[in-house]
Amino acid sequence: MKTSLYSVRMRASIGGQHLTGAERIVAEGAVAETTTALTKRAMNSAVGSPDDICCSVDKIDSATILYAKLPDVKTFLVDNFQQGQLAALSLLSRAGIQKNVAAKAIDLLAAGPGPDGTVMRGAVLIDAATGQRLEKNPNRGVRVSRMDLSSDFRSKLEATLKTAGLNHYRVLEALVLAGKVLSCPGVVAELCWSDAPDYTTGYVADLQYGYQRISNLKMAGDPCGGRIFFVDLTTASLQSLIDYLELKPVLFNAVGTISAPQKWITNDE
Ligand code: AMP
Repeated sequence: MKTSLYSVRMRASIGGQHLTGAERIVAEGAVAETTTALTKRAMNSAVGSPDDICCSVDKIDSATILYAKLPDVKTFLVDNFQQGQLAALSLLSRAGIQKNVAAKAIDLLAAGPGPDGTVMRGAVLIDAATGQRLEKNPNRGVRVSRMDLSSDFRSKLEATLKTAGLNHYRVLEALVLAGKVLSCPGVVAELCWSDAPDYTTGYVADLQYGYQRISNLKMAGDPCGGRIFFVDLTTASLQSLIDYLELKPVLFNAVGTISAPQKWITNDE
């Protein structure tokens, strides 16, 4: 008999603000240990003890799963966050986002994209053509869910990332999230940096160049961060984008090319 798969989602908040979250797809026998591990992660957050933790578990219809390959991985080393943000601007512009739209998006993450400069639970959606924000609830945003590595691929990817010096759980989880976002029809690019004050690496992702890490995108100690998905509403409707990002189960079973870190060379065009 085939094992059933379950989506396991955790989100935790403190003082009414998003604290941490995680998404997994696991076999039925691993549901209990996964909810325990994710609950422990929330309890051990460096920011503080959560006021509430919510774990949801839903069975997945295996016929609806998309199996896909992860994006290529590049790492750009920058001297400081100012250079990192210029690198992000340049990579977003190469992905087809107009410079003024990309610059506005970078300023938005730096200021905190939620109401009154807070951290959002999910991502901002921006119309790539106009720069207009599209998400209905600016506190919640759009939370990408139902994505993971296929179980027999996890250890292989972990070993590959370790060899490349990238064995941080944040890299693996961000790569999976970026992979699902890029697989969504209508998504042009993604910009992300963490709200964790001590984690300053972020990335720009696009279909052609993949998941492009930038070593420094914010000042150490800064609690702001978030995600922005740039979308093309001429190729997909807003509702179909949101449905895909939130509901479509995607399992990754192959790795892309992982390049050695390279120093960012400023491109002044
Ligand atoms: P993290 O990299 O986990 O520190 O997340 C940084 C920010 O990205 C969070 O504050 C959220 O705004 C956003 N984010 C995290 N996980 C998701 C997700 N699954 N879907 C959409 N946005 C997310």
